[in-house]
Amino acid sequence: MRTTVGIIGAGPAGLLLARLLHNAGIDSVVLESRDRAYVEQRQRAGILEQGTADVLRAAGAGGRMDREGLRHDGIELRFAGRRHRVDLPALTGGKSVLVYAQTEVCKDLVALRLKDGAPLLFEAEALAVEGAEGDRPSVRFRHEGRESVLECDHVVGCDGFWGVARRAVPAALSQAFERTYPFAWLGVLADVAPSHDELVYARHERGFALLSMRSPAVSRLYLQVPADTDPAAWPDERIWDELDRRLETPGGRRLERGPITQKSVTPMRSYVHEPMRHGRLFLAGDAAHIVPPTGAKGLNLAVGDVVTLARALVHRRDTGSDELLDAYSATCLRRVWQAERFSYDMTTMLHRSPEADGFEERLHLARLDRIATCRSAGADLAEAYTGFPVG
Ligand SMILES: Cc1cc2nc3c(=O)[nH]c(=O)nc-3n(C[C@H](O)[C@H](O)[C@H](O)COP(=O)(O)OP(=O)(O)OC[C@H]3O[C@@H](n4cnc5c(N)ncnc54)[C@H](O)[C@@H]3O)c2cc1C
Repeated sequence: MRTTVGIIGAGPAGLLLARLLHNAGIDSVVLESRDRAYVEQRQRAGILEQGTADVLRAAGAGGRMDREGLRHDGIELRFAGRRHRVDLPALTGGKSVLVYAQTEVCKDLVALRLKDGAPLLFEAEALAVEGAEGDRPSVRFRHEGRESVLECDHVVGCDGFWGVARRAVPAALSQAFERTYPFAWLGVLADVAPSHDELVYARHERGFALLSMRSPAVSRLYLQVPADTDPAAWPDERIWDELDRRLETPGGRRLERGPITQKSVTPMRSYVHEPMRHGRLFLAGDAAHIVPPTGAKGLNLAVGDVVTLARALVHRRDTGSDELLDAYSATCLRRVWQAERFSYDMTTMLHRSPEADGFEERLHLARLDRIATCRSAGADLAEAYTGFPVG
């Protein structure tokens, strides 16, 4: 099998890259190890930066997003018994975010790919990337019980943090920068209308809590828990009681409760692999970098990477020049590190770390106070939350 661009992974990065290339007339094959239902149902991100929504629209994938997505003009911070609304458009010159779940982005992109009749192989597991240093890289993969080889001009690893593509970069040329956190998120999906119409980020003595939503009828809620937590230790009533305590709703009003339909624990990690390119292999999205979900940046970073890469591949096709491909890693890493910094700051500021002493705790509260009382500090948060420009 042969193609111009071999894409490993059908998460948001791989699916969007395939769409952008298709629109530009460049053929690609997408290999995805899991089945279609898994790709379309895995609960993860829910906040699209304005730039991400614009990219999906321009790619022809924004129809349902614009009908069903919820535009949000603010977020609320709760800390030390206070409530502060960050007015996103007022602080950024008009920018906002869109609540539209990653599952829905993936469904829209899968449907477009299949409608285009372009190759997207589910249950096709990439085993290794070979020959990245030469001009005929390939992907060895297993599909329908048989091993095959996909020969390409370029290979893109969009296969997430646990994928195989990153392993093809020789250790001597790789640098990894990493932080793990001594806590995790217990995330639940509940069939109940959100108790607040904007996202609420709460720092509480008992730990962080986040109230968010997937639609007017479905709430997405998170609690900070110890890193090794078993979700089974959290029956539904315990989750609702703890959310009530940490979100400290005005007047002691309890959250609206409803059936919890999903429950999972997500570890928190910051990770960057440099460089994001080796020869004709490119890494994009979670394959190259991870952020803790507090800043809602992971999916948005993945989109920025593949926009930069698609532009560089089109430039090469049109001019024969590798100039933009050569700049890919450095261009993306500038934005990646801004998102890493923001996600780290949001995470440390809003969580209670078992390792932090009283001094550090007070610094985090002072940061929140500064955001609530100083316009430029609020604007800095709002600018980062609504998105860093794609380079
Ligand atoms: C609880 C939670 C909340 C989050 N909230 C947000 C948010 O609000 N906003 C935000 O921007 N981000 C958020 N994120 C992060 C976001 O979900 C990820 O950054 C995003 O999924 C990255 O997309 P990706 O395509 O790079 O990787 P992935 O979505 O991980 O996709 C990789 C794909 O590659 C496939 N694959 C892996 N190995 C192979 C192989 N060997 N062969 C073939 N296929 C393979 C996988 O099956 C998968 O489908 C959140 C994450 C979590 C866990």
